[in-house]
Amino acid sequence: MFKTKDDKPIIIAGPCSAESREQLHEVCTELGAMPEVKMIRAGVWKPRTRPGGFEGLGEQALKWMQQLGQECGVKFCCEVARPEQVELCQRYGINAVWIGARTTTNPFMVDELCSALRGSGMTVMVKNPVCPDVRLWLGAIERLRQAGIDDLCAVHRGFNMYNNGGYRNHPLWEVPLELRRELPELPILCDPSHIGGRAGLVPTLANIARQLDYDGLMVEVHPHPADAWTDAAQQLTPTALRDMLASWHTRKTSTDATNETALYPLRQKIDELDHELINTLSQRMAVSRRMADIKRSNGLPIYQANRWADVIADRLHQAEALGLDAAFMKELLEKIHAESVRVQLG
Ligand code: PEP
Ligand code: MN
Repeated sequence: MFKTKDDKPIIIAGPCSAESREQLHEVCTELGAMPEVKMIRAGVWKPRTRPGGFEGLGEQALKWMQQLGQECGVKFCCEVARPEQVELCQRYGINAVWIGARTTTNPFMVDELCSALRGSGMTVMVKNPVCPDVRLWLGAIERLRQAGIDDLCAVHRGFNMYNNGGYRNHPLWEVPLELRRELPELPILCDPSHIGGRAGLVPTLANIARQLDYDGLMVEVHPHPADAWTDAAQQLTPTALRDMLASWHTRKTSTDATNETALYPLRQKIDELDHELINTLSQRMAVSRRMADIKRSNGLPIYQANRWADVIADRLHQAEALGLDAAFMKELLEKIHAESVRVQLG
């Protein structure tokens, strides 16, 4: 399913949890009629943060999924966290699974799943770990590849931060972009439902993912979201999904001719400006080295807090006047200063 990159987005949709045969049947009827939906998701074992909540219907749900899959001609996927769950999925013909955010965090558990998945030919989706550590995400993918699983994709579902900035899980878009830099061939889906935590945020987040050239979405859809047993606030109705996907389908590839014509001169300008920035930085570091020599021969300290306070105040003032974001500029200037100190320490 993910072996070759497709221009068409890969849409996986379905309820947070499988709740009953009737619910799954309704999901199959609604989503099975949407050609964009490649696969239906439905949680069978639910990882609950605190005990006492609904933990999923387990094997019973897999039986329904197998029957309905055949009756309605749809494919199902669900989360697995233990080797026995992989075996049950295979027994009931579920050949696509995802590794949840809590599991990706734990290399021991990923290793156990790899042993169960080895040689199974299953499609595996790897959600980002709950913490924003791209190496854990990469590590899980590498472990799966080493186990011979090559039908793989990543799913970005956001990160659990001390302050989630109004999201259920902070998107930290730079983390999946780093994953993309490391593994450019790996498809990445966005799970706007678990990032947003509210149905109202889902289309906005999906739109950002589209603009960042994600390969598709995994989105929670329930025929009656208000009655959902888990994650009721964030599930879309099938109609809301249909509306949202209308814009995903107008996505153009970057080779689209008109797009390229309009972009070309701007991209050239960006290239030029980046080269200028790098030149300027190189000159700045050369000046730092000359200053280091003078400081050293006069017995002066490399770092002088007062001078740095004046520099940053002056630059932030200029940046503000030019409409640049203050937090971004502060971070950038601090990085440049830290490098200048490193260079001066020689
Ligand atoms: C889910 O997809 O329902 C789920 C529990 O996801 P996550 O692992 O992203 O929390
Ligand atoms: Mn959920």
